[in-house]
Amino acid sequence: MPSKSQLAVALSKLKGFDKPKDALEQYRTDGDTAADLLHKAQLIDGIEGKRVADLGAGTGILGIGCLQLGASHVTFVEIDEEAITLLEENLAPFAQDRREIIHGGVQHVQADIVVMNPPFGVQRTHADRPFLLAAFSSAPIIYSLHLAGSEGFLDALCNEHGYARTHTWDYELQLARSMKHHRQRTHRTAAIGVRLERRQPL
Ligand code: SAH
Repeated sequence: MPSKSQLAVALSKLKGFDKPKDALEQYRTDGDTAADLLHKAQLIDGIEGKRVADLGAGTGILGIGCLQLGASHVTFVEIDEEAITLLEENLAPFAQDRREIIHGGVQHVQADIVVMNPPFGVQRTHADRPFLLAAFSSAPIIYSLHLAGSEGFLDALCNEHGYARTHTWDYELQLARSMKHHRQRTHRTAAIGVRLERRQPL
């Protein structure tokens, strides 16, 4: 099993978006953030042997990290065909029977754990809402990245759907520098990684 730093190095080498699309809020998670979040998931829930869904998979860094940590199967859901071409290249080293790509909008996928870095709603407020709803329908455990300050929105939505936020970690994400509305070449944004858990029925 790779260590956190080995995982970060391996994930940093994956292909990212060629020409990130503003409207889809395409920004890849960097290798260090992905490795840190997945390492936490490995310690808390164990990724090994689990079925994982990566919603809005992009070029696949989160789901591929799960494959490297021993997930039995990962389903990648992605709407953009160009991203899927790169995702397929990144997935080439992994056995076909451990992975599946669904080309389509975010949707229910039966899984043990969801991992996702959904659109933050920089373009559209709460663009992450449909991702969270799909995640709730898919798995009892969710690891997800959101804009810092989303806690109130997350907790309200979780509460409505029988989930609770059990962990929150601070990250700084570098949004795609190609996004036209960003003046600087690099744009760092305060983000949070959260673990959401389905509450046991009383
Ligand atoms: N998970 C990747 C990509 C994050 S960017 C990573 O962590 O690097 C968000 C991704 O969601 C993009 O690839 C975008 O194309 C995809 N996306 C946006 N709206 C979507 C939708 N409605 N259904 C499925 N994927 C969507």
